[in-house]
Amino acid sequence: IEEMMVRSEKMSIAGQLAAGVAHEIRNPLTSIKGFLQLLQAGVNRKDVYYKIMIDEIEKMEKITSELLFISKPLTDQKQNESIGQMIEDVVKLLKSQAKLKNIEITYSKDVELSIFCDRSQIKQVLLNLIKNAIEAMEESGTIDISIGHVDSCIQIDVIDEGPGIPEEVIHKLGEPFFTTKENGTGLGLMITKQILERHDATLEIFQNEDKGSTFRMRFPAIC
Ligand code: ADP
Ligand code: MG
Repeated sequence: IEEMMVRSEKMSIAGQLAAGVAHEIRNPLTSIKGFLQLLQAGVNRKDVYYKIMIDEIEKMEKITSELLFISKPLTDQKQNESIGQMIEDVVKLLKSQAKLKNIEITYSKDVELSIFCDRSQIKQVLLNLIKNAIEAMEESGTIDISIGHVDSCIQIDVIDEGPGIPEEVIHKLGEPFFTTKENGTGLGLMITKQILERHDATLEIFQNEDKGSTFRMRFPAIC
């Protein structure tokens, strides 16, 4: 594992992606092939094998559709956009998922700040971060999105009450295919980082003093 880590640090993002895709697709394929061979040999418990194969295929579908998103040539359509409005749009999309876990999403509706950005890309970023926050949290709690003007930057914090992120894992976030989730793709934060880079924005990740973690974005303020 140590060696792989060193190697992946030296590899370009494209190289890491290619290696990751090959690995992530080969494993399900190998497993599907194995189960098909068992079925061909005429085993019992067919229903179990079918279910596993469908799950594996769904995993590949998920990965390929996220990769398609990445490979789409992003044409930036930047203009001044209200942060509050973008947050509201994204929260609407995630409301039912949050409600199922009894999670409340709060944000200050009275702050009227804008950033110069591609609206759909920044909504994708907010979606990825808030979705991760929901997934990190057990039943109930609050996700707070705080917006402010700090040091001539526009700062957006996504603050959750999840388990936080172990120090030794923080630097791996955003590496393609790094996931700790059963059904994760490990592509969300990579996409997030790329989009933020295109906006000259930064992402900082840290543990909260009490519990959970904060994903802090800083955008250049509009002059
Ligand atoms: P995925 O969500 O598919 O796992 P991401 O790139 O979005 O991929 O996230 C990568 C990993 O980062 C997650 O699997 C999880 O371990 C960690 N992570 C991301 N957001 C949080 C969070 N808010 N709290 C704790 N861990 C997180
Ligand atoms: Mg995610």
